[in-house]
Amino acid sequence: MDSPTPNVSAAPYRPDFLREVEREVEGGAMVKMCMQCGVCAGSCPLGAHWEHSPQKIFMMIRAGRREDVLRSDAMWMCTSCYNCVVRCPRKLPITTIMHGLAQYSHRLGLAPKLQPTRDFSLRFWNNFRRTGRVNELKLTLGLYFKDGFVAGLKKGWEMRHVGLALLKAGRLDPLELLGGHKVKDSRGLAAMLDAVDEIERQDRAAAAAAASATSGPR
Ligand code: SF4
Ligand code: SF4
Repeated sequence: MDSPTPNVSAAPYRPDFLREVEREVEGGAMVKMCMQCGVCAGSCPLGAHWEHSPQKIFMMIRAGRREDVLRSDAMWMCTSCYNCVVRCPRKLPITTIMHGLAQYSHRLGLAPKLQPTRDFSLRFWNNFRRTGRVNELKLTLGLYFKDGFVAGLKKGWEMRHVGLALLKAGRLDPLELLGGHKVKDSRGLAAMLDAVDEIERQDRAAAAAAASATSGPR
């Protein structure tokens, strides 16, 4: 169940926030179709542990609660199980919107900095971005030592049996720490990722044009 939002009367309301979401967030153009039936909130296997359910997030967007939405960690909790999507009577792409909101809040620098999913996403992305391969050893050690050297040693000791088993099975190569493997065509990879950035930029521009073509109160 959603926890009550404190200090609701003082929350900043931005009447143009729905339009901003339509413009900037993937799937955002569908938010206005939500009829607040609550099926998504009741279907989400993890929703009881979230600050806000998708139903509530969509209501807050329409109410203009910009800061409360973009600073929430609710969008980062979505596991992409698609339970809500298959049950939504209005066929909203709820999963896409939740991830789109998370990405947008990250782009604006409003996402909660210590949110674990965000932290892991960034580590994963930065780990493989240049080489095209995930260096699992560096990724794992980065996670172990993120809270300090002593905490990292402790975690490594706790997980030593798993590490040794992986080593014996040939699934862990300590030499990966010195650099690691990478795709043959690094330039091709960089060009492909640049192309994806460009496609996303064009999609946002098209969504912005569509949002500005429609006007009037919502
Ligand atoms: S199930 Fe669909 S229509 Fe119902 S509250 Fe959720 S998003 Fe809105
Ligand atoms: S896709 Fe995300 S929001 Fe939808 S039910 Fe699954 S975890 Fe909840």
